[in-house]
Amino acid sequence: MRATVIGAGVAGLACALELAERGVQVEVLERRAGLPGSCSWYAGGMLAPWCECENSGPLIAQLGAEGLEWWRRRFPATLVRGTLVVAHGRDAGELAQFARRTAHFERLGAAGVAALEGELAGRFEHGLYFAEEGHLDPRAALAALAAHLEMLGVPLRFGVEAMEAAAGSSCGRVVLDCTGLSAAARLGDLRGVKGEMLLLRSRELSLSRPVRLLHPRLPVYVVPRGDGLYMVGATMLESDAGAYASARSLLELLSAAYALHPAFGEAQVVEIGVGVRAAFPDNLPRLRREGGTLYVNGLYRHGFLLAPALARRAAGVALEDKHFAEVMHEDSRERRLA
Ligand SMILES: Cc1cc2nc3c(=O)[nH]c(=O)nc-3n(C[C@H](O)[C@H](O)[C@H](O)COP(=O)(O)OP(=O)(O)OC[C@H]3O[C@@H](n4cnc5c(N)ncnc54)[C@H](O)[C@@H]3O)c2cc1C
Repeated sequence: MRATVIGAGVAGLACALELAERGVQVEVLERRAGLPGSCSWYAGGMLAPWCECENSGPLIAQLGAEGLEWWRRRFPATLVRGTLVVAHGRDAGELAQFARRTAHFERLGAAGVAALEGELAGRFEHGLYFAEEGHLDPRAALAALAAHLEMLGVPLRFGVEAMEAAAGSSCGRVVLDCTGLSAAARLGDLRGVKGEMLLLRSRELSLSRPVRLLHPRLPVYVVPRGDGLYMVGATMLESDAGAYASARSLLELLSAAYALHPAFGEAQVVEIGVGVRAAFPDNLPRLRREGGTLYVNGLYRHGFLLAPALARRAAGVALEDKHFAEVMHEDSRERRLA
């Protein structure tokens, strides 16, 4: 069996790996010159199945817990544990609501917050700690996936616009379309959700795990990436225009980082990034068969979290003709019940 995977974002690379490990002869085609620049490139890398319950249903937690385990087992070096969630006193209601909607956390008082993150001592009276969650550096994770694929002999062909290859799918060869928002032209119900992020460098601060700061208008997370680097993200705007980050978004992200810790006021702005997430109307991921192509899409704000579970299922569909109702049934109620 041969497979062509189109798109070298996290979905495409995870699918290629699952197929290659099952003995399929896989190639990956990517239109960009390399890994940088995809939506995956700009992600926060939060693997937070239980925090995400705040605005997602149980399916995301279920698939996400599977994904978290996949990353932990395969790429332990890329994974760091725990998420801390805090809110300023005036936003205590946000923290209470977050706790009502989520699970798998420990409640912390001021001393608990300070014990986890000394830099936040005296700044927050309460917090929630999700010890079982994790995060990874998405760029390192994409590179690790690509390196692993190369080790397995999977060619990653960059600079290839792949639609012609898709049209040529044939007996004995499956095509997996993992092109994110680019697939909107073929999947009419896919939309873009723009996400802006910043990379800041501060030598004054040393946070050791992702911190989510709750706020009624713009909740943000700050993710340490080592060497004084922090990713601050992310906006969620209903738009597929990913050309630039707006002044307003930057103002809000910087204000939120500053509200978490004033040392961010002196930080160096290293990068301003924009990615556009692909989402279906119900914000749930899908495996969809059309013609000879299997679409793996709609990963929305959970691409790193969900890619492993989708990739496993995609391999099951492509190789064994399996059906996974939770990601394949067109009726979202049926998918939620599956
Ligand atoms: C700011 C931001 C923060 C985020 N934070 C998180 C987070 O903390 N945790 C998390 O799990 N998720 C997060 N996400 C979501 C995550 O990034 C996406 O869900 C994920 O990147 C989707 O991956 P993908 O592989 O489906 O798509 P993409 O990453 O968009 O990859 C698709 C690839 O297909 C290629 N392509 C398109 N058309 C063609 C063609 N015709 N031929 C060849 N190649 C083609 C593209 O160039 C691209 O490289 C975040 C997203 C953003 C924007």
